Amino acid sequence: MRYSAFSVFRNALDKHRGWSSAWRFPEPKPHYDIIIVGGGGHGLATAHYLAKEHGITNVAVLEKGYIGSGNVGRNTTIIRSNYLLPGNNPFYELSLKLWEGLEQDLNYNAMVSQRGVLNLYHSDAQQAAYTRRGNGMRLHGVDAEMLDRAQLKTMLPFMDFDNARFPILGGLIQRRGGTVRHDAVAWGYARAADARGVDVIQNCEVTGIRRENGRVVGVETSKGFIGCNKLGLAAAGNSSRVAEMAGLKLPIESHVLQAFVSEGLKPFIDHVVIFGAGHFYVSQSDKGGLVFGGDIDGYNSYAQRGNLAIVEHVAEAGLAMIPALSRIRYLRSWGGVMDMSMDGSPIIDCTPIDNLYLNAGWCYGGFKATPASGFCFAHLLARGEPHSVTRAMRLDRFERGYAIDETGRGAQPNLH
Ligand SMILES: Cc1cc2nc3c(=O)[nH]c(=O)nc-3n(C[C@H](O)[C@H](O)[C@H](O)COP(=O)(O)OP(=O)(O)OC[C@H]3O[C@@H](n4cnc5c(N)ncnc54)[C@H](O)[C@@H]3O)c2cc1C
Repeated sequence: MRYSAFSVFRNALDKHRGWSSAWRFPEPKPHYDIIIVGGGGHGLATAHYLAKEHGITNVAVLEKGYIGSGNVGRNTTIIRSNYLLPGNNPFYELSLKLWEGLEQDLNYNAMVSQRGVLNLYHSDAQQAAYTRRGNGMRLHGVDAEMLDRAQLKTMLPFMDFDNARFPILGGLIQRRGGTVRHDAVAWGYARAADARGVDVIQNCEVTGIRRENGRVVGVETSKGFIGCNKLGLAAAGNSSRVAEMAGLKLPIESHVLQAFVSEGLKPFIDHVVIFGAGHFYVSQSDKGGLVFGGDIDGYNSYAQRGNLAIVEHVAEAGLAMIPALSRIRYLRSWGGVMDMSMDGSPIIDCTPIDNLYLNAGWCYGGFKATPASGFCFAHLLARGEPHSVTRAMRLDRFERGYAIDETGRGAQPNLH
């Protein structure tokens, strides 16, 4: 069923009893051309682009819970392509371009809102670093603009510009960046992939990967064995655990990241604002709640919840930026498991095991990558070779010494 203003009107005449289910709930077939492990944003996007771009529809997405129960439904919804390095920038810019046409492509309202992503700077050194990043972006054809203190005072008058420790001196803004309703992304991709014949199978946990003569031939699941010609892993925070089923050890650590939402307030923050003196980012949802977060918890964990020390740390950084936040009540918080790679950049590649392909290492920035990740992983699975914008995102880059270290922190996953 095609969604449109007309279909809403027509169904209203029938008291909305005529809507059909957005996707099917199929039982698994014995064999697929391609199986994707993980019904998060990346797995579902991969299935959609396999069907749409490559005509491969004998595909199953296996999700251990319900779709959207992982990080795709837990993030702070920020999208941007303000990267410096040539290994990252063209990939994230492709993603932003796909976001710009996503709702038309999927025929689904994902509430893509290009409200601008602003990074604040607080020292001359930071200004120089942001200027360099902005210039790098512009050289790649990506929009970037430096704003001075006076411009920011007009845009965001409630910020503490004269904070004795962290004065706000200016910022780098990418106006095409913004936010997207995260779970609508999972639903939109699931619906579009399903419509092209992909089986999205929920409550189906992969418990083992079967190999014959070294080649992957299928997966053991809570619904029995399912065979496949190719297996793509898109399990985000659980990537290491799933890859281990095939005897593969990944250069990834799993860490928790928390997110927070406040009570609903009248609109006052029009952009995504990122405090540069401590890790704090905030935007305001359409319901009025402030959506914010900070650093990862800093220890290895597969638990989808964090600890109070980070709650305090995030609150402190928020208050240093906007003192009036002390008067809001926060409504809820949650955690998600991050697949932190050694250089903070993702991996989209073949593996040393025949028929096994990997999509992982998204750290806490994989939501914005969802469309390009799916697009490029589908390309890899269909053609057996990397897409041009993911050539640097290889699994063996760490042993070859070609890390994509955007923040320059070295092999310290908890610091990226
Ligand atoms: C609090 C928080 C804030 C974030 N903020 C942002 C942000 O603002 N911007 C941004 O770009 N990124 C952000 N991220 C990161 C982003 O959400 C992730 O990088 C991205 O969602 C990961 O890809 P995914 O959607 O495919 O993951 P997921 O949705 O986690 O999908 C992986 C799926 O695999 C399934 N799975 C795992 N093991 C198995 C198994 N054995 N069998 C079957 N299925 C399995 C899981 O259940 C899960 O549904 C944030 C993350 C968190 C937690």
